[in-house]
Amino acid sequence: MLSTMQDTPLSIAQLLRHGSTVHGDAEVVTWTGAGTRRRSYAEVGRRCAQLSHALRTLGVTGDERVATFMWNNAEHLEAYLAVPSMGAVLHTLNIRLFPEQLVHVANHAEDHIVIVDATLLPLLTPQLPQLTTVKHLIVTGDSADGVEAPDSVQVHSYEALLADQPTEFDWPEVDERSAAAMCYTSGTTGDPKGVAYSHRSIYLHSMQVCMTDGPALKQGDRALAVVPQFHAMSWGLPYAAFMIGASLIMPDRFLQPEPLAALIAAEQPTFAAAVPTIWQGLHQYLEQHPQDISCMHDVLIGGSAVPPSLMHTFEDDHDIQVLHAWGMTETSPLGSVARPPAGTEGEERWRYRYTQGRFPASVQARLVDDLGEILPHDGNSVGELEVRGPWIAAAYYGVDAPDKFHDGWLRTGDVGTITPDGYLTLTDRTKDIIKSGGEWISSVDLENAVMGHPDVIEAAVIGVPDAKWDERPLVAVVLREGSGATVDTLREFLSDKVAKWQLPENWTVINEVPKTSVGKFDKKRLRSQYHDGDLE
Ligand code: ADP
Repeated sequence: MLSTMQDTPLSIAQLLRHGSTVHGDAEVVTWTGAGTRRRSYAEVGRRCAQLSHALRTLGVTGDERVATFMWNNAEHLEAYLAVPSMGAVLHTLNIRLFPEQLVHVANHAEDHIVIVDATLLPLLTPQLPQLTTVKHLIVTGDSADGVEAPDSVQVHSYEALLADQPTEFDWPEVDERSAAAMCYTSGTTGDPKGVAYSHRSIYLHSMQVCMTDGPALKQGDRALAVVPQFHAMSWGLPYAAFMIGASLIMPDRFLQPEPLAALIAAEQPTFAAAVPTIWQGLHQYLEQHPQDISCMHDVLIGGSAVPPSLMHTFEDDHDIQVLHAWGMTETSPLGSVARPPAGTEGEERWRYRYTQGRFPASVQARLVDDLGEILPHDGNSVGELEVRGPWIAAAYYGVDAPDKFHDGWLRTGDVGTITPDGYLTLTDRTKDIIKSGGEWISSVDLENAVMGHPDVIEAAVIGVPDAKWDERPLVAVVLREGSGATVDTLREFLSDKVAKWQLPENWTVINEVPKTSVGKFDKKRLRSQYHDGDLE
């Protein structure tokens, strides 16, 4: 029997309509380094209509891809909302990709238009002659005069394009399963691959961002989105903020600890999201320049494992609760969030918070071993995590990747355990696992243990070849300035924290752990540096 319920499509246009009217007083604040640019959601709604009219005049009439090459700011938010609402597809280009990767993803997605921040032109224009499908460049910010572009590309100023356009648009009804936005993986472990999110998946994911036991973004929150809009859709914050009526605080290009601290002081965010390295940097800065940042009740951290020491520091020194979460570009990205069960206290509560968290009802998770057997959720059995659900990718755009999908599940490439009450603990990525004498050593556990030392700022652990054991761990460690710690004292510190056979004998003290384009430890680069066990 069919239901008797309506089947109204879920759409970005609906988020836009709702946010710009019901929550018209909420605002997007863009940091300029010295102050702010402010725009109400009502105004954003009007400008989205203008942008869509302007894009129609440039030939965007169907599912053309409109790419962005931008920082987090008000104009990027407008592109997020306007492009899918008019039925086209937003493609957020990662501004930190290597030039050849940028060319690959823009051509692969067949981008028709690129909206670019004026400050980023020097990174984009040299590649323009190779972007074979791009016909228009729309420049935000400063004037678009004098931009060097091939004859095949017309250059426009964003503000001039919008200026005389009507402030209302008759948003078309689009199939909720059609693509709304695309994001390519950051390529940490291979070539970037495209994920095309649907209107439906983004809408449902936005609801999850607002769920009480998820990130719990709520009306009236002031959300500081440090996570770039080109990194897994800024973890869904822009759309969720429009859905629920939370204001957005956008750092633009000012991502270093000092301007971030100034932005927090000026705008008093109540919620924030970024990868661990951003918070590590901010904490170090605040040690020298104390400032109250406790306005942020929740700080969502994911993208790589959050060291427990960082969570304690934020709670003890800054009175901020860190919410540990796991996700991937392929999962929109929200998967699990580590809110402990009601009634837990003290140590037990912390143990839950250290995990990668619990999956919501909409996302199913299972662990699979090397032979394809499904493992029990007993907190001990270690296997590769596979997930499925309405905002999980079923394929990559235009490439076959049978090794990443089977049976309707996404293979995450992450390895760990799940407890009977559903909490995921990741020990590694399959590619980072260290196999020593036939046993696995978790690089994440070792990193967390080393980073628990008060003199350690960062630590990344990789496997290096070993004649006797096949592989042994190598710790690349960054020490606090003036620290008296030595490899011996660090080993001593670890001795009661990890099994004796896991204690690393290979160490190297470095100035900074290399980072990927989205700020994660770049183990690929570390491995290529130390593949011979060649220590400094
Ligand atoms: P890339 O795969 O290029 O790094 P993503 O941002 O999509 O780009 O990364 C997803 C991966 O990041 C996950 O598969 C996982 O390995 C890692 N990750 C994300 N969140 C966490 C977390 N909380 N703990 C450990 N690893 C995480």
